[in-house]
Amino acid sequence: MSEPTLRADLMISGATLITMDATRQVIEDGALAIAGDRIIAVGKREALARTVQAQTVFDGRRFVITPGFVDAHIHITGDPLTRGFARGAPDESWSDKLMRWVIPIFRAQTAEDERLAAQCAALAMIRYGTTTFVEAGTVLQLDAVMQGLSETGIRGRVGEWVEGRAYDPGADQAKASAAAIRILESEVERYPDAGGEARLAAWPLLVGHSTNSDEVWRAAKVLADDRGLRVSAHMSPRSGDPDWFLARYNRRPLEHLADIGVLGESVMLTHLADIDASELDLLVQSGAGAIHCPHAALQGGFGLAHIGLFPEMLDRGVDVMLGTDGMAADILASGRLMASLFRDARRDQDLFPATAVLEMATVMPARAMGMSHLIGSLEAGKKADFVLHDTDLPEWGSVFDVVGQLAFSAPSGGVHSVWIDGVRVLEDGRATLIDEEKVRADARQAGRDLIARTGLPNRTPWPIR
Ligand SMILES: [Zn+2]
Repeated sequence: MSEPTLRADLMISGATLITMDATRQVIEDGALAIAGDRIIAVGKREALARTVQAQTVFDGRRFVITPGFVDAHIHITGDPLTRGFARGAPDESWSDKLMRWVIPIFRAQTAEDERLAAQCAALAMIRYGTTTFVEAGTVLQLDAVMQGLSETGIRGRVGEWVEGRAYDPGADQAKASAAAIRILESEVERYPDAGGEARLAAWPLLVGHSTNSDEVWRAAKVLADDRGLRVSAHMSPRSGDPDWFLARYNRRPLEHLADIGVLGESVMLTHLADIDASELDLLVQSGAGAIHCPHAALQGGFGLAHIGLFPEMLDRGVDVMLGTDGMAADILASGRLMASLFRDARRDQDLFPATAVLEMATVMPARAMGMSHLIGSLEAGKKADFVLHDTDLPEWGSVFDVVGQLAFSAPSGGVHSVWIDGVRVLEDGRATLIDEEKVRADARQAGRDLIARTGLPNRTPWPIR
């Protein structure tokens, strides 16, 4: 008998592991050992029992373990405090609602509001097994948000709001671009990514659409390429962006981005519902990633099922990622919705199989984010970011096809525990690092105060007495 050779802080023993490694091994009666912030061994329970000496052994027999999921597009401030507030009147257009309601509420946030909102978003994500997120580049007070996030234990990439386009014809475009670029440079300097090692870091995240000048796009791309970061931006949820780029440049949005040299592997674009065949070719050739937020597409009426080319993106090797856009914390639900809507639209039940749903939530975003050496799979050497899904629930029944069941029928509330960076941040469905009750109570009060400051009336569809 050989002596144990590896010392672990913790070993979870007897679980079913969906490793998401290169051969997509699923290990029944498996074990996972961690030391510090890393996974140090993954394998059959019996094998690890012989080779790993763990300080603590955790009985994992009723759990399925997956790598932590990635929400590749979420707005973590604003909405979390005021989600329930009725914005606008039914007869107002989408842009009227945005200008008269959404933006004034967003702009009325204090630093403390944003800090609380970010904590609520992080707690909600963790509850559904998301361990890493990419924010949409819409944070106003980055320092407060980073401070709030650090207390939750989540891994994330966040960006400050920049608006580098001077819309007013009389305004100074060079000055607007320079101000935006200064913000991007400052944030990546203050919150370095450290080769992906930093739990929280800033990336040059652009709001996208038509909000930034070519100079800002180029500067963001250079920052990302020089430092191993990613640029992320909204683009083409509906025809508004193509119309704008065609009117201004006589090119569609991805054609224009390719023309100015900013479409590449370090770029991840969100929505891309309204793209044409030539833009799909550019996406494939450039290696840029595509993020799909089905809740936003369906509720926003993007027409995605009619015109979207996401099955083609997947077929042609584009890294397709899932985002919640802040509309629902449940990232697996985003995958289910994406699969369902394209299967229905194309009358093809084989589109987006369970394996693709899990890949879009783990390995694909890890690769697109340049972080596949650290996250996305359960393998020795990677960050100890993983999720325990509880199968001792009526929705699971007998486990015959763990991948299919997890992807399509396991309950959303079935996440029992979550580890990030080797720290257990969720235990039996409850946050371990911060006082959830206090965050919720403070967030409710902050939401009421925020709406009161705007003076906007709460126009619910039915009268409340
Ligand atoms: Zn968004």
